[in-house]
Amino acid sequence: MRILKTVKEMQLHARKLRAAGKSIALVPTMGALHEGHLSLMRKARIDGDVLIISIYVNPIQFGAGEDYQGYPRDLEHDMQLAAGVGADIIFAPTDEQMYPAGFKTSVRVAELEQRLCGAARSGHFQGVCTVVAKLFNIIGPDYAYFGQKDAQQAQIIKRMAADLNLGVEVVVLPIVRDKDGLALSSRNSYLSPAERRAALVLYKSLQLARDLIDAGERQAEAIKQQMQGLIQSEELARLEYVSVCELENLTEVTTIQPNTLIALAVKVGQARLIDNLLLETV
Ligand code: AMP
Repeated sequence: MRILKTVKEMQLHARKLRAAGKSIALVPTMGALHEGHLSLMRKARIDGDVLIISIYVNPIQFGAGEDYQGYPRDLEHDMQLAAGVGADIIFAPTDEQMYPAGFKTSVRVAELEQRLCGAARSGHFQGVCTVVAKLFNIIGPDYAYFGQKDAQQAQIIKRMAADLNLGVEVVVLPIVRDKDGLALSSRNSYLSPAERRAALVLYKSLQLARDLIDAGERQAEAIKQQMQGLIQSEELARLEYVSVCELENLTEVTTIQPNTLIALAVKVGQARLIDNLLLETV
């Protein structure tokens, strides 16, 4: 496994691989790797001739007062985990490499960027799209892997790749959870033991939604209210939003239908946690 830290090295290397007819599978991450990331890598390992992992805590997707400084970073450990799933290359650029002096361009996906998490995290998806577009341009992957855990991000990246003809197949894979149901996240490391227990309320509220739907409930408002009630009953949790929306455009729906996404964001202590349930069929 090789580690590349400059854009030029990565570009040259990727160009050689493509010229040799190798297909490239890319898994973009911010590091602090866990089983959620590794599940993407294992699938990417199967699909592509070459597996490239990017590890970069992208400053422009963090807002003022968010956790950019304290975001967990452990490149040594990440490299061990990536090697363990057979990664060929780690691309771990510096900020100077990604955003040299004079940098001015950004990529935005209108409307989708405003919804759900976009309401409280202004500029976040612009930062995500800009860095992912750069990674796609630097590496030229055939496939790129994203987690359904960040459902809005996955939809936005799909839209961007299609709209800008980026020539990459965006693959979205299921949420990986801890045994008790908590969705794995690098930010779970911020939780104290009591907060870790409280954080289960996200998954419990989605299970409640699932139970209501299985019992025949189809009204989005009724489901939202029940979920909100459960989250508000958890003292350590502060609800940011619950959304019941259509997957592709992320617009709110009034009745549950196939491809409805139920998504929520909740703050527990210092951690802002998200989770969701996709109802492919109803
Ligand atoms: P991050 O390092 O948090 O930016 O995540 C990198 C990629 O891993 C994103 O596409 C995430 O959606 C995905 N990911 C993070 N957590 C999970 C999880 N629990 N299950 C599946 N994918 C995940």
